[in-house]
This record gives sequence, C-alpha cells and structure tokens, in this order.
Amino acid sequence: MKNVLSCVQPTGDLHLGNYFGAVQNWVKLQDEYNCLYGVVDYHSMTMPYNATLLRENTWKMVFYLLACGIKPENLFIQSLIPEHIELSWILGCTTSYGELTRMTQFKDKVDQLHETDKDAFVSLGLFAYPVLQAADILIYHADYVPIGKDQEQHLELSRNIAQRFNHQFGKEYFVHPAPLYTETPKILSPADPNKKMSKSLGEKHYINLFGEEDRVRKQIKSAVTDTGEAVEGEMSAGVKNLFELLRASKEMDAHDSLMADYLSNALRYSDLKEGVANAVIKLINPFRERLAILQVDEKNVKNQIHEASAEIRKRAQQTLREVRDITGLIV
Ligand code: AMP
Repeated sequence: MKNVLSCVQPTGDLHLGNYFGAVQNWVKLQDEYNCLYGVVDYHSMTMPYNATLLRENTWKMVFYLLACGIKPENLFIQSLIPEHIELSWILGCTTSYGELTRMTQFKDKVDQLHETDKDAFVSLGLFAYPVLQAADILIYHADYVPIGKDQEQHLELSRNIAQRFNHQFGKEYFVHPAPLYTETPKILSPADPNKKMSKSLGEKHYINLFGEEDRVRKQIKSAVTDTGEAVEGEMSAGVKNLFELLRASKEMDAHDSLMADYLSNALRYSDLKEGVANAVIKLINPFRERLAILQVDEKNVKNQIHEASAEIRKRAQQTLREVRDITGLIV
C-alpha cells in the first residue's frame, strides 16, 4: 500500500467546509492507503499565537478528527516527533533562499500580518515554514499528499528539495511526493456566499461541525439567498451553496425534489433551508455524539495519541538515522 500524509494546523473549530473539503476524504483514504495525519502545532507557531490556546487547540483538533473517523493509530501530534525539526534543518541546507522568497503563501501571510499592523513581526519560522512542511512529508516517505490547489507550490518545493537532496548525496533516497487530487466541493459562507466558508472571516461565516443544533439551524435559516447581484435566469450563489450542502450531505432525494421545485419556479427558500438544516443536523449529530463519548474518556484518548505518536516517531527516527548517515553527521 502506498503512503499518504496530510497535516492540519490546530486552528480551533472545524467547519463544514473543512469536513467536505478535506476531512471526509481523509477518513475514506484510510481504506486504500497507509495514511498518516498530523496535527501540526509547530506550524501554528509561525504566526502570532497564545501558548495556552495552542495546547488546547491541538487537543481539540485531535478529538475532532477522531470524532470524524480518523483512526487513532494514524494520528500524531507533530511536536511529539521532534525529528521533524531536525530533518527540517538538514533540508533547509538544501533549500535556496530564492525559492523560499517565491512562495506566494509567505507573501500572503506577511500581507495579512501587515494589514493589522504595518510593523508586524515576521519570523524566520514563517519564512522557513515550507521547509518544515517538506520535512513532514519526506520523513515518512509519503507517496501522495492530498492537497488543494493552494498547496501546489509547497508540494512542488518538497519535490524539488527531495530531488536536490538525492542529487547532492548521489542516492535516490527520498521519494518524490505526488499530489492526490480529489474532487471536493467548495463550501461558501452562509453570511456572504461570494466568499469561501472560513473561520478567518468571523463566526457568522462558518458552520461549526460540532455546533449546537439550535445555532446551526439559525445560521442556515438566515443564510443569504439573494445578494442583490442575481442574473435573471441564473441561480444565485447563496441558493447554489444550499443545494451544494444537500448534495455534499448525500441527501439526494431532498435535493432532487427541491431542485424540481426550483426549476418550476415553485421553490420556497424556507423549505430549501429547512431541508438543508435537517441534512446538516443528521450529518453532524453522530459527530457530536462521538465527541462526547471521547471527552468522557479524555485521559485515555490522550494516552492513546501519545502512544500512536511514539509508534509513528520510530519511523521518523529510522529516517533520521539514515539521513544522518547519508549527510555525514556523526552516527
Ligand atoms: P484551512 O484550515 O482553512 O487551511 O482548511 C483546511 C482544509 O479544509 C483545506 O485544505 C481545504 O481543503 C479545506 N477547506 C477549507 N475551507 C473550505 C471551504 N470553504 N470549502 C471546501 N473546503 C475547504
């Protein structure tokens, strides 16, 4: 079986966009590949952060992913495997300053920092972030990395780093990781369907995967259906998004019947919203139930993830032993 690796930053809540766009796919991939999923807390240190919240959010993300169906043995916390940092240093010495300056995400994040404070602190960590990402991938010899288009440039950098390392040391050691594209829906903000559902826009712009039923229903009920820019005869972005949510939730009977109403100009938006709210609640209720069960057993679950990380760490340590040997460090 081929190796798959994907990582997520511990950013707090998970929303429907994260689920339909990434996590649902990760759960499925576990049947076909040797999957490893990392909650990458070292990466979260690259932007201004709060230490207490970082630790809280790291565990929160672990519990969320488990509740969604990620197997505990496939899940690790990055900072429990410090070999990622050691490899990142070594790979940093085969990465050029020039190629890092060309990373568009670095420029975007610097712009984001400067938006609120023109003198904002930009760390070396933020600049070197893609090298740590390459280390995350190469340390486990990942064949595939499920990514969206926004991560293409970083994966290409990982491949270049692997290639340069292999060339420099005259050995085909690192696998060249390939992207694994899966068709995933893009979910839009219920409050502004011209934008992607995202936490950074604020609370009303995302539907929490573990949200309270009342709040989720309210959010869907007040979802924007008409932004005032509708083109005659064309479905508005907000209505499209609601149909997309029905499709993504696999409620095709409700979808098809509401679509028939839409096509015959008989659709009441309140019915569409009711259908979507029911579908979303049906989807997320089992997640909330599983989360509650995991939380009752919090200590055991945390131990399990410590153990899984220790087991996964052995693979990282094996890679580092080989890399130290190849690169001339003392072994
Ligand atoms: P983020 O924390 O925003 O980087 O999101 C983590 C993952 O969730 C990304 O890799 C995206 O593939 C996915 N994702 C985030 N927002 C959306 C969205 N609105 N629709 C679909 N997928 C999304």
